[in-house]
Amino acid sequence: MGSYSGARTAVVVGAGVAGLTAATALAREGWRVEIAEIGPPEAASGWGLCLTGPSLRALDELGLADACLAEGYGMSTITHVDVDGELADEVRPPRLIGARRPAMAGIARPALHRVLRREAVACGVTVRHGVTVAAVDDEHEHEGEGEHEAEDEHEADELIRVRLSDGTVRRVALLVGADGIRSATRGLLGLETTPAYHGQMVWRALVPRPSWATGIHQFAGKTDTAGVVPLSDERAYVFLTENGVERNTLPDAELAPRLRDLLEPFPGLVEELRSLVPESEAVVRRPVLTAFLEGAWHRGNGVVIGDAAHAPAPQTASGAALAIEDGLVLAREIGWHETVGAGLEAFADRRTQRCGTLVETSVTVAGLEREQRHHEAYPLVAACHRFMAEPA
Ligand SMILES: Cc1cc2nc3c(=O)[nH]c(=O)nc-3n(C[C@H](O)[C@H](O)[C@H](O)COP(=O)(O)OP(=O)(O)OC[C@H]3O[C@@H](n4cnc5c(N)ncnc54)[C@H](O)[C@@H]3O)c2cc1C
Repeated sequence: MGSYSGARTAVVVGAGVAGLTAATALAREGWRVEIAEIGPPEAASGWGLCLTGPSLRALDELGLADACLAEGYGMSTITHVDVDGELADEVRPPRLIGARRPAMAGIARPALHRVLRREAVACGVTVRHGVTVAAVDDEHEHEGEGEHEAEDEHEADELIRVRLSDGTVRRVALLVGADGIRSATRGLLGLETTPAYHGQMVWRALVPRPSWATGIHQFAGKTDTAGVVPLSDERAYVFLTENGVERNTLPDAELAPRLRDLLEPFPGLVEELRSLVPESEAVVRRPVLTAFLEGAWHRGNGVVIGDAAHAPAPQTASGAALAIEDGLVLAREIGWHETVGAGLEAFADRRTQRCGTLVETSVTVAGLEREQRHHEAYPLVAACHRFMAEPA
């Protein structure tokens, strides 16, 4: 770590949406922050995501909404189409960052991560790749072992001892586990939850943007659900939720032909989306998993945030919003409290109900989709957006 004399120090595990925004928010509060990311640079997986209003609002608080809009595609409508190809409804989510800017944005994940990382680094955050957390201990068990250790110099805080996979040891005032739904930090802190599978696999294919795709379009099928999200003037991603399937993997070569088969029964505009799949650079297929950490989200001065604490199903497009909000609220609550422990307590108090409600609703939506009860699922997704529009 650098040489900010007297600054409080933090290790953040994971350079995803939650980790990068938390690191930036903490650095702006005067923290010296190091991120340990297990993957290589530019390894953001998935083709893209929708930044809904609450995501844009939280990014705007970090001064990053306009950079994301410039890299992505601003949009303000969600169109739902019935099984027979008829319009079911058109939702216009509230414009949470003002009437002159769009309600949502589609953005490629690598582009979003680039914006977030650029800002983190500009704020003095160190991002190390190919590194993970190997062990976490209460610091008093290791007093006097400080040979290779970098130590926090802030007097008011308890310290937490973090050993990284490259053998370096940090004694810091805060450990943030932002390492996703399969979080290793969560287990090392003794906080346990098991991700649940919901009998659905989600598909994504990056395709040229059809000219009519200027908002999110979702199409109900007899078995599955499909749609398209624009990512830029040139590109969009096609999505499909495959219902009632075993959780398994398919060989890469089978993905594009299989996605075309699954899109085949849909009428209307989906036929055009289907014709674009062979032009896709690649197709990805992932299980729909959810997780929610019941009880404490922190132990001592270690805490988990983002998907590591609460991962909703992708149908509500709200996981990134929750992750970004977490970073902002975490830095703020710690800043307002005398000790890190008290700040973490306040953080969890503020976040548990909002995140729990969202995860629970997303599981209900996934269940309704699985049973082809789209007319019940659509209003629930709209209710989710209204709920998320309330301040974090
Ligand atoms: C298919 C799909 C589509 C989605 N679409 C949307 C959408 O449209 N809108 C939306 O808001 N949300 C969406 N989500 C949810 C959203 O992607 C997540 O909620 C969000 O990415 C969570 O951010 P995170 O930083 O907590 O976790 P992640 O994005 O998973 O980031 C975790 C980071 O930690 C790193 N890491 C993992 N393990 C370790 C380790 N042991 N040590 C160090 N680093 C580690 C990973 O490499 C990664 O960089 C979608 C999810 C899925 C699966």
